[in-house]
Amino acid sequence: MTELVNENPFQLVIATILSAQTTDKMVNLVTPKLFARYPTPFDLAAADPAEVEAIIKPTGFFRAKTKRIIAASRTLVELFGGEVPGTMEDLLKIPGIGRKTANVILGVGFNEPGFAVDTHVIRLTNRLKLVSTRDPEKIERQVISMVPKEEWTGLSLRLILHGRRVCLARRPRCEECVLNDFCPSSTTRPKGGKKN
Ligand code: SF4
Repeated sequence: MTELVNENPFQLVIATILSAQTTDKMVNLVTPKLFARYPTPFDLAAADPAEVEAIIKPTGFFRAKTKRIIAASRTLVELFGGEVPGTMEDLLKIPGIGRKTANVILGVGFNEPGFAVDTHVIRLTNRLKLVSTRDPEKIERQVISMVPKEEWTGLSLRLILHGRRVCLARRPRCEECVLNDFCPSSTTRPKGGKKN
């Protein structure tokens, strides 16, 4: 959200579906082979599931994910002429794509601002007291009302990366966090600083 390697919106859609319950790194290991074999939605829509399963197996839940990426490709072919649509409304018609993923695709694939809310964004926006809810749709609405549209995609990406690397779920690394000076949830303050 993305550290998924992709060359076009179709690859981003498929890689994002594959990224459920695994790491972007793992997805990036299988996608070169997958997209070399099935470069377009038309190819993947007509794929033999057993072949797809063998390629994506390392990402886990490979049978369900195979069904999802083939179904998503069929929808792209049947509803959108093989193109990934560029609106939230249409993206939500693709099986396996929820608001979070649609926002990533809009932001990364189309340069359309979108504020994707994943587990890291839920945690960080609450720790930073930007919101006081765990409901992704409410968080999306509240945060986008606070920041300019052109910041939505970048802010979401930065929160996700910060959540992955610094503000970890169990043991946030507050001592080395750039937000430590003003974060209401900091567990520590740098030398000379004051803890709330
Ligand atoms: S100061 Fe700590 S709790 Fe606050 S954002 Fe940084 S790592 Fe997270």
